[in-house]
Amino acid sequence: MGRYNQDIQLAKRGKAVCSYCGKKSFVNYIYSDGAPVADGVCGKCDRADNCGVHYPPREYFKDNPTFKPARFSQFRPQRKRPVITPPSYIDSSLMLDTMRGYEMNSFAKFLHSTFDEVAGADIVQANIERYAVGTSSRYGGSAIFWQVDQFGRIRSGQIIGYDATSGKRNHKQQNWVHSVMQENYPDYKLEQCYFGSHLI
Ligand SMILES: [Zn+2]
Repeated sequence: MGRYNQDIQLAKRGKAVCSYCGKKSFVNYIYSDGAPVADGVCGKCDRADNCGVHYPPREYFKDNPTFKPARFSQFRPQRKRPVITPPSYIDSSLMLDTMRGYEMNSFAKFLHSTFDEVAGADIVQANIERYAVGTSSRYGGSAIFWQVDQFGRIRSGQIIGYDATSGKRNHKQQNWVHSVMQENYPDYKLEQCYFGSHLI
């Protein structure tokens, strides 16, 4: 172990892509010939206010006992670890706020006009809520199909306009909740789930 640590220091110049946050803010530990111990992995992220990861050589060698130092093997750049960012979620209070105003919801209006006589308005309404269909004021009153996963986390909602009489979808009237609320949800990472997943 001791010899691995010989002549290793933080690079004085040049930043690598940080494997942890994906930003070009990583200062590698390098050997005296300039070869990094593990490019983008063993070193320090300069984003102190955010990522700020520090993976010193001592720990890197401990975690990677089969590692051969560069002087014994031709240096090959390490394959970059993929940066895995978790999906984003919408606040449940926002979804709950949309679970009303169905009198202006073109999709709900169509369902009521078609099924109230056979099923009863209450049953129709209960199903709208059960499937997490909300109301948006966009397009003169449209439906939000919330994508809620099996753990109850809200992936996003798809806003779709309908013709309240025919029940046909208007393909020009379509958007996502996280897109129309970009200011509240910047850098949103949408990972869709099936509509109705929360009922499984
Ligand atoms: Zn970082």
